[in-house]
Amino acid sequence: MVEAAARRIAGLTDASPRGSILRCGIGHKPPPPRAGSLTVLQPRIALTLIAAITTHSVASPLEAPMADSVHYIAARTALLVEVTTDDGRIGIGESAIYGGPASSVETIIHDELAPRLLGQRAEQPERLWQVLTGRSHQHAEGMLAAAVSGLDIAIWDLLGQAAGLPLGALLGGYRTEVQAYASAGFYAEGKDAGALADEVRGYIDAGFRHAKVKVGRTTDTPMNPLENMEQPRFATVTLAEDLARLRAVRAAVGDDVRLMVDANNAWTRATALEAGRELERLGVHWFEEPVPTEDRLGSAALAAALSVPIAGYETQIGLAGFRDLIAARAIDIVQPDVIWSGGITPCRRIAALAAAAGLPCVPHVFSTAVSLAANLHFIASLPNSYLVELDRNPNALRTELLDRPIEPDAGGVVGVPDGPGLGVRLDRETLRRYATAEPRTSEGR
Ligand SMILES: [Mg+2]
Repeated sequence: MVEAAARRIAGLTDASPRGSILRCGIGHKPPPPRAGSLTVLQPRIALTLIAAITTHSVASPLEAPMADSVHYIAARTALLVEVTTDDGRIGIGESAIYGGPASSVETIIHDELAPRLLGQRAEQPERLWQVLTGRSHQHAEGMLAAAVSGLDIAIWDLLGQAAGLPLGALLGGYRTEVQAYASAGFYAEGKDAGALADEVRGYIDAGFRHAKVKVGRTTDTPMNPLENMEQPRFATVTLAEDLARLRAVRAAVGDDVRLMVDANNAWTRATALEAGRELERLGVHWFEEPVPTEDRLGSAALAAALSVPIAGYETQIGLAGFRDLIAARAIDIVQPDVIWSGGITPCRRIAALAAAAGLPCVPHVFSTAVSLAANLHFIASLPNSYLVELDRNPNALRTELLDRPIEPDAGGVVGVPDGPGLGVRLDRETLRRYATAEPRTSEGR
């Protein structure tokens, strides 16, 4: 039966020659390794080659700007990635572009990474991730990880399509749906504590039992990086006003709702500890990115001092960085993002490290519907997850980009797309409508 399933995945019929699959699999004795060499196992599930890589830079302006502690947001922007095989299948992905223009990451994809992928066998994401990252070891982290992420997701999408399985099922199939939390509560001009409380109450009325709001846009706290960011006078508050906002929200939603807060790295350890005492009184479910990501010791000290769990750090890149955060006990909830941390390949390893430390992995998800779909499949494969972040801000790139939009049910639960691979397709008209430049394509050699 297992062999029959393998043959189906391989696209072989019962009449296909049996010797052509699973040379080292069920019922076949593997050949002995040759002395002094590695025996490279050749998968038998497909024989497609990567023929083209296309990127789409898109932007959707907001009617009203919004901000978190340090970022002013006037438009939602993104970089989508397509990997096309020589038999015409298309895998889709997304590369994070937070902190800079799409063209920076797009250049890395086409000028540095595409030559390594074109002509390669498509259905080998682990090997291709090593090919992509290994040769760039002197360019590691940051934008490189974001660029690799989009390609890695698209390659996993292709593997799921070849297997005829939703990616979450292919990766282990732990769940097919997940509870969502409403991610919003940003700062905006004229939005006072009452308006914020009304906003969050609306999410609870819509069925959510979890909601997250922003903190940290505080001008009276030491070393807040806001003063050097774009629009530093936009919708600022004092620390006292910030904490009053949270009290208003708690009063509006009641004690049964799980309320999370996110400081986006804005506070020092001392300020975060002062605020954290109030978060304890308010029964906050987690305190996200309280301090700069590089202040690992400060985060660990906070985690030890506060009963509120520390969540983070979406701004951490790669496996080794998360290993160190986990080993230092700097975080209680582990938050990589498959479009940002290097792709599904390293995020699976990060989630395994979290599991070994007894920690949940709840990815950061705050971009287009492609990032939502990819992170949903990642969560679907994890026993040590329990929530998905669901952006509730206006975002056409989340609601209009897919042939089948991903929305929560009346209980705030989101189903994982059930088609092969990511199980979603891009709406071409939406891509054209929000394009900021012509798509860029690199083609096979
Ligand atoms: Mg965050």
